[in-house]
Amino acid sequence: MRSRRLSRAPRRPVGAAGELVAATDAGGVAAGRRDELVELYRELQDCRKCPLAEGRSTVVFGTGNADADLMFVGEAPGFHEDQQGKPFVGRAGKLLDQLLEEIGMSRQDCFVANTLKCRPPDNRDPMPDEIEACRPHLERQIELIEPRVICTLGNFATKLLTGSPQGITRVRGVPQAHEIAGRSVFLYPIFHPAAALRTTAMLDQLRADFQGLPRLLAEAVPSFGEPEEPEPELAGVGATAEVDQLGLF
Ligand code: URA
Repeated sequence: MRSRRLSRAPRRPVGAAGELVAATDAGGVAAGRRDELVELYRELQDCRKCPLAEGRSTVVFGTGNADADLMFVGEAPGFHEDQQGKPFVGRAGKLLDQLLEEIGMSRQDCFVANTLKCRPPDNRDPMPDEIEACRPHLERQIELIEPRVICTLGNFATKLLTGSPQGITRVRGVPQAHEIAGRSVFLYPIFHPAAALRTTAMLDQLRADFQGLPRLLAEAVPSFGEPEEPEPELAGVGATAEVDQLGLF
């Protein structure tokens, strides 16, 4: 299998409050992709393609650098995320921030999204039809952001993006080369930070896996050549967002 480094335009980080903090040198291509991401954000505010639209307060689109090399995909918004319209703002999010800091990174260096954009009632597990409904949104985000490494947090994101039923405990910490949304990427499955908050052993493993990220980000992503047939389009998600998230990526 051939390997190659993807050449790309300079990255544009986003400030904590959401403003673009470094738009200088942003390539036209990257700027165009960011505009399309904003358009997708707007479209999703009205998404009603699954029943979660009924109970949500906001569609939690995702936040961070719209042109990031590293993307995290979690499970679904919880109570606080639903209220604030941002992913990972609770205890699990604080752990995510801490682990990023330990490898010299921050949210400004990555894009954080979820498998589901809307909160399941009482934070129950995502249902298969909800995951399928939301899948095209995640794939479009990946297509526009063009990450080189996608870190799947926990079982739901991992099974969805690897296309395998193998659980996180079996596959964690080992990068997999995949083609997603027509692009070659490293998938890097790791424990969900919420799970790591429950046991020290998991936290240690999550921390160790995080330490592998800088090296992975520096590696060439294997090329798959021509894209495979895309998955058939499935449903979508839906609803309204009172919180303005437009400045968040
Ligand atoms: N857990 C997730 O998977 N996503 C969030 O946004 C918050 C908690």
